[in-house]
Order: sequence, then C-alpha cells, then structure tokens
Amino acid sequence: MSDNILRLQGIEKAYNRGLDGEVTVLKALDLAIAPAQVVALVAPSGAGKSTLLHIAGLLDTADSGQVEIDGVDMRGLDDKARTALRRQDIGFIYQFHHLLPEFSALENIVIPQLANNVAPAQARDYAMDLLAKVGIADRAGHRPAALSGGEQQRVAFCRALANRPKLLLADEPTGNLDPATSDTVFTLLLQLVRDTGLSALIATHNLDLAGRMDQTLRLDQGQISIVQRI
Ligand code: ADP
Repeated sequence: MSDNILRLQGIEKAYNRGLDGEVTVLKALDLAIAPAQVVALVAPSGAGKSTLLHIAGLLDTADSGQVEIDGVDMRGLDDKARTALRRQDIGFIYQFHHLLPEFSALENIVIPQLANNVAPAQARDYAMDLLAKVGIADRAGHRPAALSGGEQQRVAFCRALANRPKLLLADEPTGNLDPATSDTVFTLLLQLVRDTGLSALIATHNLDLAGRMDQTLRLDQGQISIVQRI
C-alpha cells in the first residue's frame, strides 16, 4: 500500500462558459488522503466540490496536475485502464441513492460484484454481510421503492463498498434525509468505513458530521485548506 490512497497535486480545472468566458474552478489544488483516513470536505455552494470529487473519482479529467490512486499515476493509464481501476478501487455515494429500481436491495449490491467477476454465491454472501452491518438484512428482498429514504441510502452505502474499494468518495451522502435519520445513517456509514479500513473523502455541509471525521478540509477559491479544530 502506498503512503497515500488519494493524492492530488497541482490540479487545475476551468470551464468555458460561452459569453461569460472561462471560469477557473480549481487552482493548483493539492490534497492527500492516507490509508484508513476519513476526511470531510466542506465548501460553499458552487466552490467546485463536485468538480473535485469527479476528478478524484476519475469521472472527469483535470486540465493539468496529477491524480494518484494508491501510488498509481493516472497520467500513465489509458481510458480502459482508468475505467477498470475506477470500478475496482473507488466507491461512490451520492446525495440521491441511484439504485436500480427494478432490482432488490440485495441484487443492487450483487450486480456490481458480478460485473467484477465475483462468483454469484460469494457476491450474495458479501452483499448479505454488508446489509447486516447496516442493520437491514431483513429488507434484502425489497425493491428500492419499498424502502424508506434512510434504508435506500444504507443500500447505496453497501453498493459503494461491494467491490471492496480502496477509496470512498461521497457527495452529501445523508443530505437528502431528515436530521435524525441523517445522524443515524451517517453513524452507520462511518462504522462501515472504519470496519473495512477504507479511506474516504466525504463532502458535507453539516459541520457536526464533519467533526466526526479525522480531518476537515475546506475548498474555497479553488484551493484546499485544513480547518483547525479547537
Ligand atoms: P459545487 O459542487 O461546489 O456546488 P461544482 O463543482 O458543481 O460546485 O461547480 C463549480 C463551478 O463550476 C460552478 O460555478 C459551476 O457553475 C461551474 N461548472 C460546473 N460544471 C460545469 C460545466 N460542465 N460547464 C461550465 N461550468 C461548470
């Protein structure tokens, strides 16, 4: 294992907005996440949080700078290799669950494993294991529409972890839930992340939740600073 699971160095990203000209969103941005480190990302709206998560998750490319996942420099990989690495090493959670509506909770966690050539029985066992860890093994056979918002998000957490990634990227993972459910579900997510020894970068507007992670980073004016805790 490398010293850092995620390392961004000198990341620059600008968008061309037609008549408004070019807007630079990320400027010489540096960031590093160590193995098993869980980091909160806070940012004012429009500061470039999604852009940063997409670049870190290999869903978008920077204009310049270096992205390393567990010591592997992405500049050396072609599209196919990047896609394979993304599928194996990175788990994503969004504010909305994005589960496949026609499949059960269990199937939603099994399918990504089958895509990664895991044997069906083994995929099923691990999916059940994950569902049990987030307390909803009894809901395994239900489709997303039959689950509450908090349950849907728990399934989305399990799906993100299904392929035993090295890095979890989450964008407001409990932002859609009422405050009490958000707190409970976030606690489960944190426990799951700690149990699996994952590294995580979790964007949140909620400073209480951020305070429960190892470090808080703030994205503002295109750059990252560490928020000091008192
Ligand atoms: P956040 O997630 O922090 O709200 P985003 O990363 O979505 O911010 O966007 C940062 C800035 O970049 C915003 O000003 C947004 O309007 C702009 N932006 C994002 N994506 C595009 C795009 N595809 N084309 C042009 N501008 C974009």
